[in-house]
This record gives sequence, C-alpha cells and structure tokens, in this order.
Amino acid sequence: MSLSHAVVLGASVAGLLSAAASSKSFDTVTIVERDQLSDDTATRRGVPQGSQVHQLMPAGLTRIEELLPGFGDELLEQGCERYEIDRDVAVLYPLGWAARVAGGMEVIGFLRPTFEWVLRRRVLALPNVRAVRGIATGLLAGADGTAVTGVTVTGVDGEKLDADLVIDATGRGSKAPNWLGELGYTPPAEQHVRSYPGYATMVVRFPEGALPDGFRGIAATPNPRHLKGGAILPCGNGQHVVAAMGMSKNYPPAGHTELLDYLDEAPSPLLGRAVRAAELIVEPGTYRMPGNQRRLWERLDRRPEGFVVIGDAVAAFNPVYGQGMTIAAIGAALLAQVLASADGSITGVAEKFTAELAPWTDYAFAMAADTDSFFPGAEFVNYTPPDPKAAAGEAFAVAAATTDPAVAQAMRRAAYYMDPSGLQEPAVRQTIAEWASTGRQPDPSLTDPNDLPSTIHNAG
Ligand SMILES: Cc1cc2nc3c(=O)[nH]c(=O)nc-3n(C[C@H](O)[C@H](O)[C@H](O)COP(=O)(O)OP(=O)(O)OC[C@H]3O[C@@H](n4cnc5c(N)ncnc54)[C@H](O)[C@@H]3O)c2cc1C
Repeated sequence: MSLSHAVVLGASVAGLLSAAASSKSFDTVTIVERDQLSDDTATRRGVPQGSQVHQLMPAGLTRIEELLPGFGDELLEQGCERYEIDRDVAVLYPLGWAARVAGGMEVIGFLRPTFEWVLRRRVLALPNVRAVRGIATGLLAGADGTAVTGVTVTGVDGEKLDADLVIDATGRGSKAPNWLGELGYTPPAEQHVRSYPGYATMVVRFPEGALPDGFRGIAATPNPRHLKGGAILPCGNGQHVVAAMGMSKNYPPAGHTELLDYLDEAPSPLLGRAVRAAELIVEPGTYRMPGNQRRLWERLDRRPEGFVVIGDAVAAFNPVYGQGMTIAAIGAALLAQVLASADGSITGVAEKFTAELAPWTDYAFAMAADTDSFFPGAEFVNYTPPDPKAAAGEAFAVAAATTDPAVAQAMRRAAYYMDPSGLQEPAVRQTIAEWASTGRQPDPSLTDPNDLPSTIHNAG
C-alpha cells in the first residue's frame, strides 16, 4: 500500500534527497521552492553558500547512491573529478602532516552548483516528483491538531497544498519552530556554539608543476593557534577551488590580491605560494556565519503526525568540517527506510524518523561544536564545552596520525564516514596509548609546514 502525497519544502540538497526518498513510498511528491529553478548550474539566491567550496564525504555519496544509483558517474560525466582524499591531498593537522595512505578513500571533487544541478535534474526526472515555485508560510492541521495535513504556500493555486507528510528542508533559517508554535506545540530547544567562521572561495587553474609533485590539493585549515587557514581542492574540468577560511571573526577578504596575502598566514605557507602561480577563473566570493546551530526536534514532548524536519533545518554546522550535505543524505536514506517500513500508514513516522536521525546529528554536532569550543571567543548557548583534558588525550591520536597509517585511516573514517569504530580497534588504541604514555612527538620531518610528506603507505 502506498501513501498519497508528500510535500517537501526547499529544493536544495536536503529537499531534493528527501523527495527522492519519499518518491518510493508516495504516489506523488511535490517540492516547494521559493527560487526559480533553472536547468543549469547557475548559483541562486536561496543557497547563498553555493559559491563556496563544498566537499562531499564518502558517507554522503554512499547514501546518495543508495537513493539514486549511478549518481557519482553522472557527476563524473560533467567533468567532476575523482581522487583519493588521503593520498592526493596533503592535510596539515595542528601537530603535523597526516600520513598519506593509498587505496583508501575516494571522493569526487565538484563545484557546488554543478553538484546541485546534477542532483536536481536526476530527482525532477523521477516520474512522480514535481517542483512548484512558492514560499511556504505555515502548517495546516486537522481540527484536533494532532496531525499536519498540509502547508500554506504563497504563490501556488489556492495558497495551500494538502499532504500526508510535510518535510521541512528550508535550511538554517527554517521557520518550522514558529509554525509548530502556531499549532499549539512547544518549539524545540536550541543549541548554539558560535565560533564566527568566514569563507572566501575562488576557482583557479594551476599551470603544470605549480602544485607540489604528486599532490592534487593541500588543506591547512584553521586551528586555535592559527585562526586563518585554507584549502586547495580539485573541482573538476582541470580546475581547483581555493578556499580561505577564518575563525573567531578573522574573516577572509574579497579581493584577489588581499586573499593571496591572507592565505600566506595559513598554517602552511605552501597554500599562498601555490595559488600565486595559478590563473584566476572565478573571482572570490565571501560568506560569514555565526557557527553551529542545532534544534533538538527529537526532544519534543509532543509532536504532530505527518511532519518531519531534515538537513540544515535540524542542524547547521561550521562548514569547515564538511558535514552538512552528508547529514542531509544520511537523513534522506533513513527517511526512505522509515517510510518503507511504515506499511502505508503515516502514524509514528515522524517520531521514528526523528529518533533515528538524532544519533547521527549528535555525532556530527559534537565533532564540530567540540572542536570549535577551543577557538578564542567561542560562545555557548545551551551547550557544555568539552573538558580540555579530553582534548589533550585526543591530541596524541592526531600526533600518531602523522606517522601511523592505521591511526590516520581510523581518524579519517571517524570524520568522513562518521564511523569511529576504527579508533576502538585494539592495535589503534595501543598505538595511541603508547604515544600518550611516552609523550611522543611527531617526527620533525613531518611537522615542517614548508615540507610535504613524500611517503605513501598502503591502506591496511
Ligand atoms: C560556506 C559554506 C560551506 C559549506 N561547505 C560544505 C561542505 O564542504 N560539505 C558539506 O557537506 N556541506 C557544506 N556546507 C553545508 C551545505 O551547504 C548544507 O548542509 C546543504 O546545502 C544542505 O542544506 P539544506 O538543503 O538543508 O538547506 P539549504 O541548502 O539552506 O537550502 C534551503 C532551501 O530552502 C529554500 N527555502 C527556504 N525557505 C523557504 C520557504 N519558506 N519556502 C520555500 N523554499 C524555501 C531555499 O531557497 C533553499 O533552496 C557548507 C555551508 C556553508 C555555509
């Protein structure tokens, strides 16, 4: 038995993936988007972050492939570029360069508007999915208020859409807490960890030999002792995206020349040096945000049936950790599973989906918020920062990851697959414990920010 109609609010990554997830269980899915959606890779107003660097973790790509098989190949057909993140990109941790490992983790580099266009084209080609232009303004409920029955929308016929399920994917600025309040429900509590990150991103082309031999990118992102940082990553069609990132209100400038000077202050001067040799393809664009924001939808005492929230509308992270699209994809894959097991009844779907998403959001939020807690001036609302002693213990894992490929892989799995199990492996734990008990420091040859690691280990 299938359900009749799902309405998805927002046609960005979380909305499109939710539509793909719902299309398997509903007769029809309508996406409501306030922007005019074009059939090209233009940036649009509703996604102002679209011109900034975006990297998709393997955990996200796996979930998208579950919903939309062959999606990765479609990106590659558009010239996007596959590379091994742990072999091809030099990553400078606060305590040295991460060990390079081959045969490990493949990712696809793209520009965000290209990624979103490929996704949009694929989802809108599904026979039971359509998009309409309109602005969602509130929720409709039955007379007893126990179930959401639709949504009010400025710009569509009749100014409303009826639905068995409404999925809010309107992003960080979602008005869903107010809408729920208007129906007589208590809005969710919020957590904020404000570290005031800023971005500036440009697209460049490197002449032959301008990047260090054997590398396709360099990442030296900010840390509490270096508030300015950046990354160079492949984005396809022979181009690279160059992002400057600043923390604690050290916002990168918009001018090209000023941005090169800013990159000189990154933890590795190799960034600025390499980018000076590059041809500018797309001028820098800037973006500022307060930091990490989370709404605790899973803790509501009472919620209506027929309404769920996904993507940045649940949690929006400091983007330096590259988690947002992956958590959106994990959410959509969970939604597909919950709907598949619902057996044609919407009762209990909202509760079950929200509960299943919560541990993933917990994990991603803790990773971003706890790391950000150590930046100067970080502000906390309804969030307890971690004990500095725990962070000191983790520093030995970071130190060991400069030399030990198993530790380096386990740390990357914890970040890029959101799977911390590798860090619990006895051999990995023992290595980290040995570094901690002896106070071992990384080999000086691996800590020089001017000198990239040449050894490539094999994945275990
Ligand atoms: C600078 C920056 C860099 C980032 N880098 C990365 C990265 O490297 N990796 C990563 O995984 N993530 C990254 N992110 C996060 C990523 O952009 C988001 O997590 C991702 O877009 C998913 O968000 P979303 O779909 O929930 O919401 P959004 O992308 O914010 O989209 C919301 C959509 O809803 C529409 N909308 C809003 N209100 C209404 C309404 N009332 N009615 C109808 N439509 C409405 C908007 O027009 C928009 O289309 C970055 C974010 C920023 C700010």
